[in-house]
Amino acid sequence: MRSPVHRCRDTERGRGQAGAASGMGSNCLQPEQRIPISKDVITASSASAMWFIKDACGIVCAVITWLLVVYAEFVVMFVMLLPAKDLTYSIINGIVFNFLAFLALASHLRAMCTDPGAVPKGNATREYIESLHLKPGQVVYKCPKCCSIKPDRAHHCSVCKRCIRKMDHHCPWVNNCVGENNQKYFVLFTMYIALVSLHCLVMVVFHFLYCFEDDWTKCSSFSPPATVILLILLCFEGLLFLIFTSVMFGTQVHSICTDETGIEQLKKEERRWAKKTKWMNMRAVFGHPFSFLWFSPFSTPDQGKAETYQESSA
Ligand SMILES: [Zn+2]
Ligand SMILES: [Zn+2]
Repeated sequence: MRSPVHRCRDTERGRGQAGAASGMGSNCLQPEQRIPISKDVITASSASAMWFIKDACGIVCAVITWLLVVYAEFVVMFVMLLPAKDLTYSIINGIVFNFLAFLALASHLRAMCTDPGAVPKGNATREYIESLHLKPGQVVYKCPKCCSIKPDRAHHCSVCKRCIRKMDHHCPWVNNCVGENNQKYFVLFTMYIALVSLHCLVMVVFHFLYCFEDDWTKCSSFSPPATVILLILLCFEGLLFLIFTSVMFGTQVHSICTDETGIEQLKKEERRWAKKTKWMNMRAVFGHPFSFLWFSPFSTPDQGKAETYQESSA
């Protein structure tokens, strides 16, 4: 799940600004890539309207994710619930399963199509660095790969070919980086996949028990061997994804609470940012205040971020 960590960090110091753009190549000085002269730009969100990474491996993995959910949907509905005799059991489980699967896929789409926090490309120009009026000893980091000024805690992703603020890792399953702006959706995706997998496993166990007690020919509209194969495959899928996504969910919640991204943990980076309470860190990712919207992939957690920016700038 994790992409290789880039250790390359070019620096520009307050003194010697005249040579700020030296060694970056002339392609960094394209006027149309220049951004308004403002210090806020380094930290401000650059969320674009549509974000999609054109990476073949990531697209294949994302399509596989959707196909696995479609397979689970097929087995749950056509092998287990529709042929079941107990209508109440089928309706309740059908609603729960479809609701969880819908939220999982919606979270997946939001995680995939949300700008994870990409830094404006090519803003590490001589004019721009000069315009920052750096004091002697002040340091800005520039990325030699995408030619941008790197805000603190940003890392370059070789798949996205951009510097991503608070990059945690690049996840091929959501075909995107997990960063400051889409971490909520990624956490929700892992949570809903874990829940839907658990629900599938419980239903498979109940269905097997029911079929052992009853006549095998009556417990499914498919032949007994086909039913067993379909259920065992679903069982494998459910177990694999329950383990995988719950571990991922736990790791993500831990890194949110400690306010340390996967890359920072991996590189054992020195902490340069203010320490906040776990609750403040959770609100920064999921939104402020705590409400059911934390669990909705349709709500954008802007307020939480505004709050942290105010706190960090104060
Ligand atoms: Zn970069
Ligand atoms: Zn990436």
